[in-house]
Formats: sequence, C-alpha cells, structure tokens
Amino acid sequence: MPPRMTLPVIELKPDSRPIPAEQREEVLASPGFGHHFTDHMVTITWTEDAGWHFARLVPYGPLPIDPANLTLHYSQTVFEGLKVFRGPDGNLGAFRPEENARRFQASARRMAMPELPEKTFLAACEALVAQDRAWVPSRPGHSLYLRPFMFATESGLGVRAAREFLFVVIASPTDGYFAGEVRPVSVWVAEEYVRAAPGGTGAAKTGANYAASLMGQAQAAAQGCDQVVWLDALERRWVEEMGAMNLFFVYGERIVTPELTGSLLPGITRASLLTLARDLGYKAEEARVSLQDWRRDSADGSLTEVFACGTAAGVVPVGSVKTALAQWTVGDGRPGEVTMRLRETLRQIQSGAAADPHGWMREMAGADHTAPGRQAARS
Ligand SMILES: *Cc1c(COP(=O)(O)O)cnc(C)c1O
Repeated sequence: MPPRMTLPVIELKPDSRPIPAEQREEVLASPGFGHHFTDHMVTITWTEDAGWHFARLVPYGPLPIDPANLTLHYSQTVFEGLKVFRGPDGNLGAFRPEENARRFQASARRMAMPELPEKTFLAACEALVAQDRAWVPSRPGHSLYLRPFMFATESGLGVRAAREFLFVVIASPTDGYFAGEVRPVSVWVAEEYVRAAPGGTGAAKTGANYAASLMGQAQAAAQGCDQVVWLDALERRWVEEMGAMNLFFVYGERIVTPELTGSLLPGITRASLLTLARDLGYKAEEARVSLQDWRRDSADGSLTEVFACGTAAGVVPVGSVKTALAQWTVGDGRPGEVTMRLRETLRQIQSGAAADPHGWMREMAGADHTAPGRQAARS
C-alpha cells in the first residue's frame, strides 16, 4: 500500500463554547481518574489509498458508529496512556511521549493496523495540550492524562484487517489512579484465568487484553483483594503483571522485575524505574520470578518489598498476597523504603521538583504563565 510521504498538518477547529472556567476549576479540584474530559480532541483518518490525512482538532464529542463497524465485532483497536505535568514555572511537560509513540506503533503492527508516524503522534498530543492547556492541573501529583487510541472505522462482518482507521487523542485531568495517601494494595493471584499467552497479544496495548482480564479482576474483588496478579499461561508458575501494571520485587539492595517474555506489556514506568534504581545505586535486573519464590522469600524475609507501577497510578506498594491455597504478607505489609524512594524520585522528575538527568520530560505547548494559581510561584 502507498504510504503518504508528507505528514498531515493538524487543522485547528476549536469549539467556540468551551466549558466555563468556573466549572472547569470545580472539576480540577477533585478530578478522579478518567471521569472528565477536556473541551477538544484530535482526530486523524487513515485509508489504504490516502494514508494518514484529514487531521483536525475539534470539540470533544461523540463519534458516529455503524452497527457493522469492524472494531465492535473483531476488536482491531490499540491505545496509549501518558501524562502531562505542570512544572513550577507553569511549563507543561509530558513524560517520555516518544516512548508512547513507539509503543503505539508496535501495538499497531501486532494488530495489523497502520503505524502512525512518531512525529504525528507527538504533534497531535501537543496540539491538544496547547488548546486545552487550562485543563492541566496545578495541584501536586495531579496531571493531564492523554489517551491516544486508534480503531477500525470500516464496516463489514468478514474477518479481515480493516482498510480505514481513525486515530483520536482525548485528554482527562486526573489526581492519580489510586489517589490519596499511599495505601498498599492486596492482590489475588489468578490461577484459573490467564491474561496473555506466548505468541498472543499481551505485549500490545489492545482492548481485547483488558476485556480478557475483567473476570480475573472480578475474582480478586470477590476474594476481598484490590488487584489481580497474572501468571504465565503455560506453567502458571511465573509472575507476569498486576492488573494493568508491571511488578517489581525488592531483595534489600537488589531489585528484580519480571523479564519481557512477549506476554507482558513493556511498561515505560517499568523501564524508567530500572534506570532510576541503578542511578540510586541498586542492582536492578530483569529475570523470571515464580509464585513459589514470592511466597518462600516473603516468609524467610529475603524479599523485603513488592510494588507495582504504571503511568496511571505511578508506584504502588503491594502489601499482601492471596491464592486459592495460601495467604501471606510482604515485608511488614506497609509501604517499603525502596518503594517510596523510587516513587518520590519519579514524581519529582515529573513535577519538575528535581533535575531530569535523562531528559525524559518533553516540553508541550511552551510555558503557560497565565495558569491560575501559578502567579505567586513566579515572583
Ligand atoms: C499500560 C500498561 C502497563 C504500564 O505501562 P506504562 O507505560 O508504565 O504506563 C502495564 N501493564 C499493562 C497490561 C498495561 O496496559
């Protein structure tokens, strides 16, 4: 198929009637996660003949959908999640958006979908943030969560790759996924259901993986646990992920995260924490961790902490584990020292409170000196 060589320019068609400032500030006082959306969205069309074209920033609103839309039936869809933070000078910074752009391409490849050029992914995010900059929260820990996604827009019931797609970016202010004080989560280990299998789509951020995980999460809730932990599909022995977050195991000065076997989602927070842990002098490695190791090493005290990580929730301690046959506590069940140190290090880079030694923050839409509540900080 002939890919278009020129990148599409995003045409700005903003709403003349955005949500009033007073109402917006009310939302920003307590946004939750994924409940409220900003005034606009960016959409870009792909067709087999024309490639990527018709890029527009338009008012946020419903998308028309045909009942025979291929995505509704066969789930040809991928997504990303990244955050934009307001820095101490009012500057708006996205955390490693290039990594999201690349993973979006990798997910699309796996799902037989067209790859959006990295530059276009970034330009779409930037255009939306520039337009809706007033929606980027200024409260500590709060951020604007960007949700780029792509789905088949063609209609038909024959099972095949679609020839038409729509890329969309929407934005939602958030105070974090598990907001409030740092509370360790309890986990249920799924031994009946699996999330992803070798050769499957576990490494792609695609909707069907999440639909497949909902029964496991429901079982966790029925067991009185906060989150579900997934094991490998073949042996049901190796620990893979927790819900939609990657896991880390802390053995004193040594930190281990399950290696990327193809059925795990390669988290950008995971990769960043491996780097930060080494910066802080820990020995950080990727290896296989078995459920048996987790139980035995918790019991003998060599495993001191376990935490989960992801863009939405940051770094979250895991306090206790439950399986069909056993139940145990990790460390003393409270947030561990290494967990909290890594959590703070990451948060400070993102908020601009600490230096950014790896150049992870990408300036979005220039400095915003008109933001409410920031004038004082500039004087
Ligand atoms: C998105 C996601 C993660 C975390 O990835 P980040 O890039 O750190 O946000 C981990 N596991 C799954 C299944 C995910 O969907």
